[in-house]
Amino acid sequence: METLEFQAEARQLLQLMVHSIYSNKDIFLRELISNASDALDKLRLAKLQDGLEADTSDLHIEIEVDAEARTLAVRDNGIGMTRDEVVALIGTIAKSGTAELLGKLKEAKESPELIGQFGVGFYSTFMVADRVELVTRKAGTEGHGTRWESTGEGTFTIDEAPDAPIGTTVTLHLRPKDEDDALYDYTDEWKLKEIVKRYSDFISFPIRKRSGEEVQTLNSQKALWARPRSEVTDEEYHEFYKHISHDWTDPLEIINMKAEGTFEYEALLFIPSRAPHDLFQRDARRGLQLYVKRVFIMDDSKELIPDYLRFVKGVVDAADLSLNISREILQQDRHIQMIRRRLVKKVLSTIKDLQTSNPEKYATFWREFGRAVKEGLLAEPDNHKPILEIASFATTEGTEPTTLAAYVERMKEGQEEIYFLTGESRSQVENSPHMEAFRAQGYEVLILTDPVDEIWTDVVPDFDGRKLRSIARGSVDLPQDEEKPEPEGDFGPLLGFLGEKLSEQVKEVRLSHRLTTSAACLVSDADDITPALEKMYRAMGQEGPRVKRILELNPDHPLVAGLRAAHERSAEDTSLRDTAELLYGTALLAEGGDLEDPAKFAKLLADRLAQTV
Ligand code: ADP
Ligand code: MG
Repeated sequence: METLEFQAEARQLLQLMVHSIYSNKDIFLRELISNASDALDKLRLAKLQDGLEADTSDLHIEIEVDAEARTLAVRDNGIGMTRDEVVALIGTIAKSGTAELLGKLKEAKESPELIGQFGVGFYSTFMVADRVELVTRKAGTEGHGTRWESTGEGTFTIDEAPDAPIGTTVTLHLRPKDEDDALYDYTDEWKLKEIVKRYSDFISFPIRKRSGEEVQTLNSQKALWARPRSEVTDEEYHEFYKHISHDWTDPLEIINMKAEGTFEYEALLFIPSRAPHDLFQRDARRGLQLYVKRVFIMDDSKELIPDYLRFVKGVVDAADLSLNISREILQQDRHIQMIRRRLVKKVLSTIKDLQTSNPEKYATFWREFGRAVKEGLLAEPDNHKPILEIASFATTEGTEPTTLAAYVERMKEGQEEIYFLTGESRSQVENSPHMEAFRAQGYEVLILTDPVDEIWTDVVPDFDGRKLRSIARGSVDLPQDEEKPEPEGDFGPLLGFLGEKLSEQVKEVRLSHRLTTSAACLVSDADDITPALEKMYRAMGQEGPRVKRILELNPDHPLVAGLRAAHERSAEDTSLRDTAELLYGTALLAEGGDLEDPAKFAKLLADRLAQTV
């Protein structure tokens, strides 16, 4: 026998279990049954696809209690584990992001939202047991099995189990019942029936309860996706969702689909009510479960749902696929591609319906998943319209996000385009000099602050025939500009002078129509990429020539007017050159940009200030 230590994170998690932060302790059984069901699926699949020799004629889960000894055993005749697998799978937490979540969990002890993000699986047994034994033997291996045992306190023991049958048995030595602490008597038949019915009814293998000679099956085993929606309660759907998603919170929306005819399939999809912590981690699990005629084929089938909808969970049961279809074949399968297109369409239209049928749900959806959904604007040019229809954006009109359709409704007389400005934060965008004329003349501007906004706005030209227009690009002619009087004096020579002095930094210096209070701002030429995008490409290792921008001056600003007068008096004045640098630097700072030579700018500024004191 060997005594081993739990990995540090596993120890922390166990501590939380032993000191029981979850109010609902019943769920340990759901976790054990869920693991057993996975193990049975895996065995059936190993036989089907890898030709493993195994008896799969009576795959089942069995619950056995001994009221006197106060033990509860959950047994399956599934795939089982080798010794090394037991050490690796039960002794460590492999899930990414777990450590990070643990930290948060500890800070916010009783916060149900946080706990909900975090399926604790096997370790939940320590909420109800003070000692747990696991005996297992891997299908297809010769010789003895493995016995694992722990009290959940830092170490576990590993030993040989000479006559272990194929599969896994987990035996809990139950703690005394304490109903005040929601710790029930888990040897009680009615309690067990109730828990199985509530959490595990849909499990596709029989869950049997043995008491002496008597054996009864506790679950109906009905595939939820195959049942008409009217016959299934929300609670049943929710439990199924939790089983397949490992989320502990009810889903936001349930989607049923059924296609008949030449290619039959059924789908049951869920939109979670909260983004998982690893939504933007590349190695996160994603994809749907694939079944063929009620037989589980694979998890995480990415072929069924595009990456930008990776948060969608669920099951697709396709009637006409081969049972031993591989991932490689799946990628090329025409039917799978068709199913995927239909699922996308259905998910997008479901969200669209929510906008009117349940605006609150829609707002939750967009807050949680909008950032991911917008990636679809890059991935699926064919779906620009439906994706933009379900999108909403922060705006200068009020604090609530707006849809594009609502924006268009509000557009002013004579306004043709949808105005937006990208930036790093709402306040940076709102205070940007580019915003001045738009604000002064009452034009609404969308405030786009997600990194992905920089990219999709570069490739999506319009929405429903209205051009999407960055107010930091190209020239602006707002309708009211025509009424403005021409600026006094001839700015031509000054602009020429500045253009020459700043030729390293900018491609042109011109007068602005977008400024009312600032002296200057920088804009990108209509066809050039924005500095943020340039920075992003550089970060990804794509080098290119630096894109110069255009410096725009506000002729009504005293600084600019004064500069013009000074230049007219003496074009040779050396301080003019410094003023030009200061003007350029200030414009860059105002939009949140980075100065190329901050020390030089600071010196110029200090020298200039010294002249004024
Ligand atoms: P999860 O099920 O989310 O992976 P668990 O803590 O419930 O996390 O289980 C950890 C791992 O232990 C499982 O992924 C599985 O590989 C293994 N395992 C647990 N129970 C069984 C079982 N009854 N049969 C085979 N493997 C099991
Ligand atoms: Mg599990």
